[in-house]
Amino acid sequence: MKVVLASKNKHKLQEISKITEQFDIELVMESELGIDVDVEETGTTFEENSFLKANAVMQASGLPALADDSGIAVDALNGEPGVYSARYGFDDTLDDWGRLQLLLKNTEHVPDERRQAQFVCVITLVTPEGEVIQARGEVHGMLLRAPAGTGGFGYDPIFYYPPYGKTLAEVSPEEKNQVSHRANALRAFYQKLKEAGYADK
Ligand code: IMP
Repeated sequence: MKVVLASKNKHKLQEISKITEQFDIELVMESELGIDVDVEETGTTFEENSFLKANAVMQASGLPALADDSGIAVDALNGEPGVYSARYGFDDTLDDWGRLQLLLKNTEHVPDERRQAQFVCVITLVTPEGEVIQARGEVHGMLLRAPAGTGGFGYDPIFYYPPYGKTLAEVSPEEKNQVSHRANALRAFYQKLKEAGYADK
C-alpha cells in the first residue's frame, strides 16, 4: 500500500523506511507530493501528537498518512521531557546537542540507580476513509552522565542500553533498528495493519 510519511526528520525517515521496506508499504515523502504541512503539536501524549500529524497530512494529500511521535521519558523527571523532547528547554537557540546537555544538567542530581529512561514511539496511520491504526513501542535503558558514541541522533549518545552494554549511538543502525522504540512500534503497527486487512504479507 502507498502511504505518505508525515515527517521531515531525515534520521527518522531513514529508520522508518528501513523497517517498512520489509513490509508491503511503499513510503512516499511529503516533499515528493509537493506537500509541506506544519502541524502544531498541541497534544500532551505521544498518541495525540502522532494522530494530529498523520491526520493533517492525510487531509492535505488525500492518501493514507503515517506519522510517528517520539521522545525520551526520564523516570526521575516524572517522564520529562516526553512529548517535549524535540522542544526541551523551549529555547530556539538549542539544537539536539544543546538539549542533550540540558537533560544531563537537569539529571545531575539523580543517583546512578535511579537513572532509568525510555524512548517511546507511537506510530499512527490515518486513512481517507477515517480508519485510525495506532501502535506504541518502547526501549528501556539508563541515562549516562556523559555522551558516548557518534551514531544515531538526538539523545542516543546518553541512552545506555544494558543488553548491548553500549549507548544507542555506539551501535550500528542495524543493531539500533533491532531494539529501538521506533522498530518496536512499527512491528506492533504492522501486526495491527495485517489484522485490519491492509497488508498481504
Ligand atoms: P518528534 O519529531 O516530535 O517525534 O520529536 C522526537 C524527539 O525525540 C527528537 O527530536 C529527539 O530529540 C528525540 N528522539 C526520538 N527518537 C529518538 C531516537 O531514536 N534517538 C534519540 N533521540 C530520539
